[in-house]
Amino acid sequence: MVFNSIRSRLTALYVALLGIILILFSIILYYFLNNRLYESIDNSLKLSASVVRKTAQLDYSRTPLPGLEFLFEQFLGYGNLNKFYRIYDGSGNVGSRSKNIDASKFPLSQDAYGRALKGEMTYETFTVADGHPIRVITMPVLRDGTLVNLIQVGTSLEGVKETMRNLRIFLFTGVPTVLLLSALVGRFLARRSLEPVAKITHTARDIASGGDLSRRIPVPEVQDEIGNLALTFNDMMDRLERSFAKIRQFSSDASHELRTPLTVMKGQSELGLSKLRKPSEYQEVLSSNLEEINYMSHILDDLFILARADEGQLPMETERVNLVTVIEDVCKNVEILAEEKQIEIKIAYLESAEVIGDGHRLKQMVWTLLHNAVKYTPEKGLIKITLQDLGDYAFLSIQDNGIGIPETDLPWIFDRFYRVDKARSRSEGGSGLGLSICKHIVEMHNGTIEVESKMGEGTRFKIRLPKDRAASRKIA
Ligand code: ADP
Repeated sequence: MVFNSIRSRLTALYVALLGIILILFSIILYYFLNNRLYESIDNSLKLSASVVRKTAQLDYSRTPLPGLEFLFEQFLGYGNLNKFYRIYDGSGNVGSRSKNIDASKFPLSQDAYGRALKGEMTYETFTVADGHPIRVITMPVLRDGTLVNLIQVGTSLEGVKETMRNLRIFLFTGVPTVLLLSALVGRFLARRSLEPVAKITHTARDIASGGDLSRRIPVPEVQDEIGNLALTFNDMMDRLERSFAKIRQFSSDASHELRTPLTVMKGQSELGLSKLRKPSEYQEVLSSNLEEINYMSHILDDLFILARADEGQLPMETERVNLVTVIEDVCKNVEILAEEKQIEIKIAYLESAEVIGDGHRLKQMVWTLLHNAVKYTPEKGLIKITLQDLGDYAFLSIQDNGIGIPETDLPWIFDRFYRVDKARSRSEGGSGLGLSICKHIVEMHNGTIEVESKMGEGTRFKIRLPKDRAASRKIA
């Protein structure tokens, strides 16, 4: 039989365990009761034999003992009425016996006589001619070491056999009935408690076949293991839905970003080819196309960096990086652009701070932030740079007094292709990927990046970079 569902396996396991316990219990109960019944019969036989031994008449045992039953009744009560007695003399001849016993039905055994000569008692079980089981005690009476009498008391075992037979019937019918009932109840309970799992499977299958990521599993009221499973499943679906939405958005943004320069190139090329033109006009078309090609390759480079970062495969050096050198190097490059707009780049405070990381990537990050500051700050603006060593981490701030970012755009500013003003960003040669890459670089160094901005007043980026691994845990 193949148990291909948890429900069947649980039920089978439960019934098997219960079966083993019940069978063991039945065997123990049967043998214990059997022994106890024999023990109590033996005790009562021994008591009766002792009473006989104590009677003074034993010296003379040749005549029947008419008063013995009366004597037992008086000493031991009515419980002894179903017993029979025999008294032998020392040489093994029957002296007296109770009336309800026929001597021929069970003789005195050699074994019992031999043991009696040694002064030992013997318990024996016989089956008499009509098939009745009887239990007999043979008790010796010794005087000065010589066997003078042998007392035999017997009783029927029919009662014990009957009790044990009834117990057997009870156990042989009761145990299978209990097992059958528990299998049915167990199966029912297992089905009920696993019902929510079936619902989860059903919903998951629907989602897989229909692709509707907005579907959720009804969470049971009781917060048990299955309730938690449903919650976890729904959480997972939330995240999946968000990720898919992001991927969709990203694909459409990426294709749009690449389509725009292609459309421009196509339009200009078609226009250029529509009639014969002067060499200078062709040159103009080619240089405009080259600009668009540069823009596209810039986007593709950035996308490549992000794709590798997503896969966790962006190579990262781990070396001691002096942030002062990084800032000074980047400033030299950006200053050329800043001068065109007469923007002043002021190093307000530069404290020596070293971090463990990738110097090239950190330069890329500072360059993007400074370049953005120049792009989005009007002529004659001011950019302030601060670097502080705050013990566990280095703190870098890049602040401008440019156009600022609207409050509603701030939460999305690090998203891929997100730009407050697409036209302006494009005209500045921006791809909308710079800040996403900055965030990746900072996170690769276990740091944090924050932005503060006010429209018309300016923007400030604050970066915290841990100086070593131990510090990175404190910042996180
Ligand atoms: P882009 O290539 O468009 O500059 P980024 O990812 O670097 O892309 O920046 C995303 C957007 O954030 C920009 O388009 C711009 O709208 C805004 N932004 C970034 N830096 C600044 C800044 N210093 N001042 C104002 N706006 C900024």
